[in-house]
Amino acid sequence: MQLRLIGTGGTIASRSTPTGRVASVTVKELLETARAFPVPECAEVTCVEMGLRASFSLGLPDLAALAGAVGESLRDGADAVVITHGTDSMEETAFALSLVHADDRPIVLTGAQRPADDPAADGPRNLATALTWAAHPAARGHGVSAVFDGAVWPAIGLRKTDTLAPAAFGVPGRGPVARVDDGRVRLIGRPPRPAPLISADDLGRLPRVDIVPLYVGCDTALLDAAVAAGARGVVLCAFGAGNAPPDVTEAVARLVADGVAVAVASRVPAGATSAAYGAGGGADLLRAGAVFAADLSPWHLRLLLAAALHRAEGRGPEGAAVVIRDWLADAGHHDAAHPWSGHHDAAHPGG
Ligand code: ASP
Repeated sequence: MQLRLIGTGGTIASRSTPTGRVASVTVKELLETARAFPVPECAEVTCVEMGLRASFSLGLPDLAALAGAVGESLRDGADAVVITHGTDSMEETAFALSLVHADDRPIVLTGAQRPADDPAADGPRNLATALTWAAHPAARGHGVSAVFDGAVWPAIGLRKTDTLAPAAFGVPGRGPVARVDDGRVRLIGRPPRPAPLISADDLGRLPRVDIVPLYVGCDTALLDAAVAAGARGVVLCAFGAGNAPPDVTEAVARLVADGVAVAVASRVPAGATSAAYGAGGGADLLRAGAVFAADLSPWHLRLLLAAALHRAEGRGPEGAAVVIRDWLADAGHHDAAHPWSGHHDAAHPGG
């Protein structure tokens, strides 16, 4: 059993300095500290250092490089890949990798909430748990997952749910896919796994997609600013199940007509969007040409929309919407038609 361990930095690799925490612990050192806990004895672990970075400073080219390193590890014959990563943007990296990798061999991210020099550091145990899950036959076919505080979470739906607590992650509305307790794996479920949409290199050249939050009293200034900055797509972080004030909905109709794709996620952490309300709300957004995307977080939907625009090159917002709806169906979201939609025909009810 060959495991490839890729280090990218984050709190798990950080120590305190007079100017704040800074990543300075190499992935080889992290592996040594993890050996204080049960780690799979049958596995030979080779380490690759990709940089000691804070995950809140990563960009899509960094994710492209990481996806490339994962692909290289698999081509080298690794049976699984484990990545140490900052927690702040781990959900985006995990989702981005899931848009790229189709392999049955597991890709597992982990990190820590407490730095390496904390007397109660959680990183070593999390890394040992991640290695245990990655090496376990039950992990095969799960695609990308994140291991934290004994729980294994799927990439799709993953969210950082606590700023500081050791149980930092969750998939709101769903549970973990497995638990690992004292080196023993307990499998819970296996969510559907859509086919990859893009290549590792594509990740570094996706079109710009911005996320625009909606809030009481908001206007269309941020929406217009996103488009002026070159966004080819916008994700609305909308009210409730996917509602917007009427002037935002009118602006969405204008943008879609101009070829800018608009997708709807919610400000609410759990639950699916639903195009239910008139008076400028979700039903009108749907008629304006926005695509609704089940319970994807704004951060995941931003990556999905960018990948969909790349895939649908030249086919505009409706082409991207088709890619998104197919992907959502493959991920297990089977939407009923929206009878109140006038924008799409009966065969394409609008997601
Ligand atoms: N707080 C972050 C972490 O837990 C910092 C980062 O994302 O790099 O790793």
